Formats: sequence, C-alpha cells, structure tokens
Amino acid sequence: MPAVEIVKVYADTVYVYRLTNMAHSSAKFGNCQVCNKHVSEVHLQTKYGQCKKANGKYFWADQGALWGHKDCVIGKRETGKKMNLKKFTFGNNSWEVEEQ
Ligand SMILES: [Zn+2]
Repeated sequence: MPAVEIVKVYADTVYVYRLTNMAHSSAKFGNCQVCNKHVSEVHLQTKYGQCKKANGKYFWADQGALWGHKDCVIGKRETGKKMNLKKFTFGNNSWEVEEQ
C-alpha cells in the first residue's frame, strides 16, 4: 500500500488519501476513530478532494483526517478507479494525476 493513493469515484470526483504512521500508540493519540479500540501503532489518514482547473490540472482541498488502525482507516476509503501520480508537491498540496 503506497503512502499516497488516488481514487477516482466518478468522472469529476477524485480523492487523494495520504497515510502516515505516527509511530505511537493510543496512549498518545486515543483509540481508533473507526472501531474505538486500542491501537499499538496509530496511522493517520488525510483525505483531499479534487478541484479541477480549466487547464486540466488538479488541486486538492483538505477534507479532514482519520486516525486509528491501518486497516480500519484504509477501509473507510471510497472505492473506485486508481489513478497514477505524475507530480507531487506537499508544500501547497498540489498534485497532477492521470488515469492508469
Ligand atoms: Zn480500528
């Protein structure tokens, strides 16, 4: 599972999921937000939704975060067609994507 996954749900509905291992347990971050149980290695999932510009490039709006077990937060992702990452800049949350 890559740290960044791009999922296209409908023609104009694309989400980017970024997964980060926080390297700490629930003692620091609290229980899993999905199953409400203790987590030994908390994973933080950040979700971004697309805004498509006239030139076809995508920019992404932060749609919130979810933390807990790796499998729990991944299980909350939308299902759809996976997309390739062409260019990636974390500084301004900017990605360019293409269909696989
Ligand atoms: Zn869980």
